[in-house]
Amino acid sequence: MSDLRELYQEVILDHTKRPRNFGTLEGSSHRAEGNNPLCGDEIRVTVKVDGDSIRELRFEGAGCAISTASASLMTEALAGKTIEQANCLFDRFHGVVTGEIARDDGKLGKLAVMGGVAEYPLRVKCATLAWHTLRAALEGSGEPVTTE
Ligand code: ZN
Repeated sequence: MSDLRELYQEVILDHTKRPRNFGTLEGSSHRAEGNNPLCGDEIRVTVKVDGDSIRELRFEGAGCAISTASASLMTEALAGKTIEQANCLFDRFHGVVTGEIARDDGKLGKLAVMGGVAEYPLRVKCATLAWHTLRAALEGSGEPVTTE
């Protein structure tokens, strides 16, 4: 079990140091900004939607390790998924990081590494900021998202 925990921390550290899909997506169809005043995390998500699928997505901004790793993992997990699949994954991810759903049931894939956040309630907003921002981008509200 402690080996697993170490592995999770390694994955998070890796994504913090080398965020995947970092930057602005040229020719994006959807975008939104989000911030988490509690921690100072700021993020901008740009997405290219094709039909009902997320073809590509990127993020940029400045945030803590948890928010950066979570955003990076999210962009990896959602590229190529349908919007419906993305919404399902967000609901599940949200359930796991808030401790409402047991982690490691295999349905979250690599995103399960963020499950440890459930032990740190103040970090839940860091872990979900990218997801809330993505949802706002897809819904096209154009309003900046805040976790407050
Ligand atoms: Zn944070």
